[in-house]
Amino acid sequence: MNPTLEHHTHYHHTHIPLAELHTHLGGAVDPAILWTIAHEQGIKLPTKDYWEFERLVTVSKDEKLEGMKMLDSTKYHWTELIQSSPLAIEPAVHGTIGGAYRANHIVLHELRYNPMKRNRGGEQDLDHIIMATIRGMEKALLEYPEIRAGLLIILDRTLPFRLNEILYQKALKYRPRGIIGIDLAGPPCDSFRMEDYVDLLREAKSKGLGLTIHTGEEGAEQLKEMELVVEKIEPDRIGHGFLAWQNEKLVKQLVEKKITLELCPTSNLQIQVIKSEEEMKKIYRSLYDSGVILTINTDGPEMHGTTLWKEFNFLLEKQIFAKDELNSLIQNAFDSTFVR
Ligand SMILES: [Zn+2]
Repeated sequence: MNPTLEHHTHYHHTHIPLAELHTHLGGAVDPAILWTIAHEQGIKLPTKDYWEFERLVTVSKDEKLEGMKMLDSTKYHWTELIQSSPLAIEPAVHGTIGGAYRANHIVLHELRYNPMKRNRGGEQDLDHIIMATIRGMEKALLEYPEIRAGLLIILDRTLPFRLNEILYQKALKYRPRGIIGIDLAGPPCDSFRMEDYVDLLREAKSKGLGLTIHTGEEGAEQLKEMELVVEKIEPDRIGHGFLAWQNEKLVKQLVEKKITLELCPTSNLQIQVIKSEEEMKKIYRSLYDSGVILTINTDGPEMHGTTLWKEFNFLLEKQIFAKDELNSLIQNAFDSTFVR
């Protein structure tokens, strides 16, 4: 039922409703809102200058980060700290979902976050944090009835198994209230083994939680990890996962098992997990032409200085995808959502 782009020469936000499946709350809040929240809470920031703060929490135009670890330790550290209380996180969620609707006509919005990275090392109660995010979402849904939305709880590679297990249990507990699924993310970490999570993640899926996993984004080890994920865990979707293009068998499995990839073009280039637009074209085209279900996402529009519309226009202008192909990717996002 989505209108197509046929009649427009350029993507424009007033026309077509969009779905965003892969956005981190830590990368989605307008820096000006974060700045105000930080001040309201009296958080000690490393600068008193707003513009310096903005540079601190966003990746600027030509800034290149060296991999995911760098993004986590520099940018996310601050956004997550500022969002670390019920009073802070409620307007963050509310503003993100409402803002994306107004600016980008995003009518289907999945937003993900890790409540344990927002409880100040255990000082704040996890249930309060989670309920505050649900309240923020509900407010946006009341204001904009066209929107459908859901929240995903992120487990993290750098957390011990026991804590990730608690996150999973919280997701189950709040499933009837709007937690639609779980994700597993975070930079590569020596103490983390995906094998340890096979049972837990399969169980999550069997209990009706949507399952997506960040993998196949960076390095040879993540390609190996992705093979295990696809073989043994069979998530509904994979965050990034583009490294699969190097492995014919893996591509075939993605197609057969109908696993959707959540691609985030600008993020890939900024974190330098894809080195150039040419390389991106080669990789994305190869996956598309093999029949893998692809979706386009921002990863965190404010942090990466993008919007979903900018992502589509970029792919069009660089001739990575044609307009009818992009229409099919938009439809894929509506088809692959965990929001029921
Ligand atoms: Zn991500």
